[in-house]
Amino acid sequence: MQKDELIKRYYSQILLDELSIEKQELLSKKSITVIGCGGLGSPLAAYLAGAGVGKIKLVDDDTVELRNLHRQVFFSEDDIGIKKVKALSNYLKNLNSNTTIEIHDKKSWELSYDNIKSDLLIDCADNLRTSYDLNRVCSKERVAFLTASIAAHVGQILLFSNDSQHCCLECVFPSEGELDANDCADVGVLGPSVALVSSLQSLIALDFLLEQKSHSNHIYRINTKEFLINKNKVLSDSSCKIK
Ligand SMILES: [Zn+2]
Repeated sequence: MQKDELIKRYYSQILLDELSIEKQELLSKKSITVIGCGGLGSPLAAYLAGAGVGKIKLVDDDTVELRNLHRQVFFSEDDIGIKKVKALSNYLKNLNSNTTIEIHDKKSWELSYDNIKSDLLIDCADNLRTSYDLNRVCSKERVAFLTASIAAHVGQILLFSNDSQHCCLECVFPSEGELDANDCADVGVLGPSVALVSSLQSLIALDFLLEQKSHSNHIYRINTKEFLINKNKVLSDSSCKIK
């Protein structure tokens, strides 16, 4: 993109201390993979495409349903029955034609690492099996992993940089037995609560892609009923089963 075009498009964010023309160009060279294109993944993908991330891979095998629309507001009634990756891809291409969109209409564990490889793997899925599976892949491949979830009014976000010292989701929350591969959004949730967690996850992703990394190896707990956000460092577990 020409510099004058870049300045015109991203003027309001380039004004910020953490951004500049050079940082904006850096962002345009970055790639992310968004696993799960529902309540967390669809706004996150829209914010990151809008911000100028160069390439976004979308992974989801679900179809837009009427019951999604109260929280997945980037979809419309016209999208019902359409694959989420397709509907979201259309939205993102209209939002920012400079961002390359790649879609995978599959579950993440059906894809090879080469398919999902990028600078940052972002877990927006709604089941534990996907989160722990991606955690294992990211730890092994030493690629940064950003995972978030929300149930009712409580959300959490964790970023593992996977660069030098081992620290992962298993270290913080060791998994036990067979992990549930089913939808865990059945406890109920409000659209704005999901949006809040997705916005914070988007900010953490941008911070990482801009190579500021101040959120690495931390957990954020968000209570959307009490309006509380807690940040704590997480530590490596020497007995971690995937270390
Ligand atoms: Zn670990």
